[in-house]
Parts: sequence; structure tokens; C-alpha cells
Amino acid sequence: MTRLQVDDDELAACVACGLCLPHCPTYRVTGLESASPRGRIAAMRAVQWQGADPGGSFTEFMDLCVQCRACEVACPSSVPFGRLMEGTRHTLASTTGYQPWWRRLAYRTLGHHRLLLAGSTALAVAQRARLVPKRLGLPKLSLRRQPLRASGSDVWLFTGCVMDAWMRATHAAVQRVLEASGAGVALPGSGGDCCGALHTHAGLTDEARRLAERVMASMPGDAPIVVDSAGCGAALKDYGHLLGTPAAETFAARVFDVHEWLATRMDRMPAPVRRLSFPVAVQDPCHLRHVQRAHQHVRTVLAPYADLRELDDDGLCCGAGGAYSALQPELSGEVRARKVEAIIRAGGAHAIVASANPGCIMQLRSAGIDARHPADLLAEAADE
Ligand code: SF4
Ligand code: SF4
Repeated sequence: MTRLQVDDDELAACVACGLCLPHCPTYRVTGLESASPRGRIAAMRAVQWQGADPGGSFTEFMDLCVQCRACEVACPSSVPFGRLMEGTRHTLASTTGYQPWWRRLAYRTLGHHRLLLAGSTALAVAQRARLVPKRLGLPKLSLRRQPLRASGSDVWLFTGCVMDAWMRATHAAVQRVLEASGAGVALPGSGGDCCGALHTHAGLTDEARRLAERVMASMPGDAPIVVDSAGCGAALKDYGHLLGTPAAETFAARVFDVHEWLATRMDRMPAPVRRLSFPVAVQDPCHLRHVQRAHQHVRTVLAPYADLRELDDDGLCCGAGGAYSALQPELSGEVRARKVEAIIRAGGAHAIVASANPGCIMQLRSAGIDARHPADLLAEAADE
């Protein structure tokens, strides 16, 4: 009989009220109880307490979850659904063939930054040769990346794996904005190149812990750690839970989403010379809104520079979900279609969208939406 690596009290906390269901993107698209938070919790309980088989359909029900955690915010019983799902996937990855060797290999590559950079350069060459379909929504990758250079020690800028390889220009924009607010920027040392978020989502918790230890060692001292990817920021803020040590708790308390950090320093930001000449629709990444609960800071930071438009979908997920869009393309596409409709209602088919997470940016771009990181918009406002 399989025991899921979850807390039984947390599993028991769900009262099956169903208030989370309208907030769940996979339930909204499918209408299936098995694709809802309540249904997934019921399936976990059946494995945990009634000896149900964790293979087959159970694995599929768990795998179709985007891990957006919108259900957590909606839940009156404070069920920590993210922890339940992570523990369940960890059990599946440890005891079943849930993560085959080739997926484990792909996840492992994320922790080898030079290899990732070399692979990204090869992908950039393939893009030039028109060998990469546009529908994948990849940003146009650079054949050469301008190196980032440290300018001080007031804050660390966490650079990460895929974002550094594919969107380093956004890191450069973030650095310019941080410096404009008067902060000198330090860059992580060796090992500060993968937060382990995708590994945690995949149930590869041991690998995530190994990466977390490396990240912590790469940014010593007590300076704040600023993160410009909502998914990475959520992972770094969770290191206390992931590692369960006082050092990890202390580290996690130093982590800020870049907008969260800038919002406390708006008086030091340069006054806008001119506001952006186009309206900007704000899309809240789930890991900024539901996990970090820091999404309003994006509005605080952008408001002096742009006319902002709100989406009317109550923060529904865009379907990116880390590796979800690659692993579950069909359901991910259906979830994204609802987000695209909300964007068009807010700003029309040619809306410019601000999104503080690289995965969401790529997900929306693959549907033809002009999504940009807020820092890129800020940098553009400074240049206008
Ligand atoms: S994490 Fe998101 S996709 Fe998964 S059950 Fe909760 S609301 Fe649904
Ligand atoms: S997870 Fe929370 S909101 Fe959803 S059914 Fe259970 S108790 Fe209700």
C-alpha cells in the first residue's frame, strides 16, 4: 500500500465545499470533478486511506493539475493544496515510473548552466534557419548574450536558468531599473543558476533541495535578493519549507519579487519623462498572485509610466505552469484560450500585456499576444 508523502491533517482539512471549483482552470475547461481541486483531494485520500492504486488514472488526475494554486486562495478551510500536490508528485516520482529517465535528464540540464547556454545558442541558430515553429512562442534567442556586470552590493539579482539563457535582455532591463532607483546590483556566484521550481513541480524534490543549497551558497550575506521571474521568486521564498532549516528560513526572508521591492522605493524612481504611448493590460502570473500574493506591486510600479487595463477573469491561470504547456499542450492551450479572450476584452487583439513571469510571457506569445516583462516596459518608458 502506497503512502503519499503528505500531512494527513492537511489532507483531512478539505470539507468538500466546492468553493474552489470556479477558480480552477482545469475544472473550468473540462467540467470534470476529477480535474478539480476537490476531486484531486478525494483521489489522494482514496490512495492514502483506502489503499487505492496510485498508478493509471490517479497519476493522470494529478498530472493534469497546472499547480497554479488558485484553489488555495479561494479555500475557506486554508487547505494547502500546493503542498499536497508536491508531496503526491514526490511520492509518484519516487515509487512509480511517473518521471521517465529522459524527463529527469531534461530537468537535470537546467542545473548545468553552460550546457543550457550552449543548447540555447544552437536553438538560436535553428531559429535563424527557420527550423523552430513559431507556435512554440519562443522569444527570438540571441546568438550572443551581453554579459551582465555587477554594479554594487545593495541587492542580489537572481538570474536563474532558462530566463538567463533566453531573456537575459530582461535581466539587463531589471538591472537598469534597480540602478535607477539607486541600488547597486550584485550577481550570484557559481551555483546560482537554477532555483529548482520545475523539479519541485515534477516531484523531483531531492534534486530541488540540492539546487536550493547551491542557490543559497551563491548569494551569501544579508542583502535582499530580488527576483524578476514570479515562478523562481515563489520557489526561493519556499526554501524554508523545502529544506526545513533555520538557514533556509533566513534566506527565504531575504527574497523579494522585483516589483515588491521597487514598490517600497517609488520615491527614488526617476520621474517619467513621458508615459508610454499605448495602454498596458496587466496579467497576473499565478505564482505572483496566488503564491507570493505580490501582484498589486506590478501595478504600483507601472502606474506612473503607463495607462493600465485590468483583465476581468479574476486572475485565472494562462496555462503555462512551468513545463505544463510542453507536457499537456492540449489542455494548456484550452486554458490559454480563455486568458486570450480576457486580454482581448481588456485591450483588443493588439493589446500590450505586462506579465512578470517568463513562462507566462512565452505562453501568451505563442498565441500571438504581445506580452512583455514589466521591466522591459519601464525601460522602454525611460527611452521614450
Ligand atoms: S492548483 Fe490550479 S489546476 Fe491544480 S487543482 Fe488547484 S486550481 Fe486546479
Ligand atoms: S479545497 Fe477548500 S474550497 Fe476546495 S472543496 Fe476543499 S475545503 Fe472547499
